[in-house]
Amino acid sequence: MAEKKNKLGSAKRFGARYGRTVKHRLAKVEKEQRKKHKCPYCAKSSVKRVFVGVWYCKSCGVKFTSRAYTVSKRKLTLKKEEITEIKEMPKKEEEVEA
Ligand SMILES: [Zn+2]
Repeated sequence: MAEKKNKLGSAKRFGARYGRTVKHRLAKVEKEQRKKHKCPYCAKSSVKRVFVGVWYCKSCGVKFTSRAYTVSKRKLTLKKEEITEIKEMPKKEEEVEA
């Protein structure tokens, strides 16, 4: 029997409560917020979260604000087809006006 990988991580603290989907979502966010991020000033990965939206770089000592759970901007996870769809959207509006 193949062993199942437990991806819950920090959400394990909730035990059997609150349901699998919610716990997996939370684990994903907490993993991101607790890891060391790349510093936008010195480019070293030594930025840790102080509290919501506030980040501190241990290497160059800079404290700055960013996103609540991550330093980097939201990753572009859209597929090429979806991007072209978005680009084509204003054209459709023009057709409606005309
Ligand atoms: Zn830095």
